Amino acid sequence: MFGVEELDAVSLALALMRDANLELWSDRLTAGLDDAQRNMLMRHRDILSMLVWAKRSALVTVAACPECRRWSCVVKSKALKQCGLTVGCNGVPVVAKAIAGNTTRSLFS
Ligand SMILES: [Zn+2]
Repeated sequence: MFGVEELDAVSLALALMRDANLELWSDRLTAGLDDAQRNMLMRHRDILSMLVWAKRSALVTVAACPECRRWSCVVKSKALKQCGLTVGCNGVPVVAKAIAGNTTRSLFS
């Protein structure tokens, strides 16, 4: 099951990777963060290890469905109009973008 915090962690991690010009996640990117942000990222390291930020090729990020709460790695260029994670689910998955704040939170309210 996937929650709001995972989406926030992915969004923050992508923003840090972009700003550092790194294609893959590294724990040293948490150096300038506060404890709450660092702890959040550490809780979801298994997901962060799957992310890829590449300027010339596709971004690999995470999409999560607010209805069934399942998630999957996706290529960013693919817009998701309907949940393909659970048969019969009518949810529209939210794709985590490179955002350094908590803006994905409202999407799951
Ligand atoms: Zn769904």
